Amino acid sequence: MKKVIFLLVDSLMPNILEDCIRQRTVPAFQFLKSRGRYWPDCVTVFPTMTASVDSSLLTGVYPDVHRVPGLIWYDPEEKAIIDYVNGWRCVWKLGIEKCARNVLYNLNEKHLSKQVTTIFEELANRGKTSASINTIIHRGSKKHRVRLPFLIDLATGFRLHDDISGPDVLTLGAMVKSGLETQIPRHTLGLRHRCGINDQYAVHAAKALITSKDQPDFMLVYLPDNDHQVHKKNPSHAEGALIQVDQYVQEILNAFGSWDEALNQCVFIVTGDHGQTRVGSKKEFSVDLDKLLTPFRVLQLGEEVKDHDLVLCNNERSAYIYPLAQEKESEIVQQLLSESRIDLIAWKRDKGVLVKEGGSGREVYFEPGGPNPDIYGRTWSITGEGSVLDLRSDQGIVHYGDYPDALSRLYGALYSQDIPMIVITARPRYEFLSRYYPRHANGGCHGSLHKYDSLLPLIVAGTGHPLNERPRLVDLKNFILELFDT
Ligand SMILES: [Zn+2]
Repeated sequence: MKKVIFLLVDSLMPNILEDCIRQRTVPAFQFLKSRGRYWPDCVTVFPTMTASVDSSLLTGVYPDVHRVPGLIWYDPEEKAIIDYVNGWRCVWKLGIEKCARNVLYNLNEKHLSKQVTTIFEELANRGKTSASINTIIHRGSKKHRVRLPFLIDLATGFRLHDDISGPDVLTLGAMVKSGLETQIPRHTLGLRHRCGINDQYAVHAAKALITSKDQPDFMLVYLPDNDHQVHKKNPSHAEGALIQVDQYVQEILNAFGSWDEALNQCVFIVTGDHGQTRVGSKKEFSVDLDKLLTPFRVLQLGEEVKDHDLVLCNNERSAYIYPLAQEKESEIVQQLLSESRIDLIAWKRDKGVLVKEGGSGREVYFEPGGPNPDIYGRTWSITGEGSVLDLRSDQGIVHYGDYPDALSRLYGALYSQDIPMIVITARPRYEFLSRYYPRHANGGCHGSLHKYDSLLPLIVAGTGHPLNERPRLVDLKNFILELFDT
């Protein structure tokens, strides 16, 4: 059985990848695509944020099952907003200890449901070894020692020293003792380089494992730099970032002696976690949620729940709004409906989801089970105007348009928690603004249900094992396990 290397490139987008391949600027991606199979439209989960997406990638289920709602969400038990680090102003407001504790421990050990297994746990059960290189979801059967860089250690009062779980090999930049330290250049570890959560660190770690003669059966390598560049420059000017990523992928292929040898020895899977949408440069393209919600008492980052009406959790081009008193729900929805730059407003109703379009108020309701199968074979009962979600029926089967896999994805997000919650998305070109969150005027941004944020290119090379012709990110865990089982 070949070994498997999974390259997870943050914000990898199909149109940018295809443009670069056409212009012959990304030889490694071009090689893998030409020697394997390619899909331009693998669908990710919603919200299109790394924390919820990576949880689905590693567990093979939607957020209603793995229970990680997004990057930012409200935890009613803690009565606090959970933030897995979105920008330094958030970290500053919440405190570095809380953020570090959430992303290092709670995400994997507490928030990610114990009812699901990660791919690392499944592989360990099969006697296979695996490595997680810098991925934020890494729950596995081994314990690893946290070792924080001095400044973070100082800022967290030297209190974060519990072990964390992971597969056989776990790196989180400079924050975990991995045994690979001597083979990674020190300059990639500094605070300016996000303490080792960068492409250069990840590729050095991957090369060290490949050339160690003890390469794990499965290796997941997370490459984050592309995301930062696309945010800054916007998707139409982000080719340079992908060309840089390609050079790192070349380094990985070179570690085998030749690129052919790499494919002889390994299956390569390359994909992203979400896309991005270009945000307009004028102020009006940032929808100020603090302003829109002024009639209500809004709980913000770092505040304690008192007599607030609602909690606002901004996930860039989507946001969760939690009414703290049930009777406020319809008032809040009315207020949200008055803002036509909001694309969709969705919340739980009976056993399903009610979705309204911002501005017009047109609506559609759906719940699982019923007479309407979708293209993925899941059945629904749908009433109202399907066009709100760009649903089309062809010979009785529901097809998706601008909102890929919309029904499972919206349901997955809203049922990730058992409390009243509303989710809203911004129209293309717009993002949500609220206190302490980063702005992306004339840059790129993601988080929504729209296809711009939701479609991933997927390359599979080195195996002919069948994969659903309409692939979704949630299908990849089983696909990888099948590679080892057959
Ligand atoms: Zn991002």
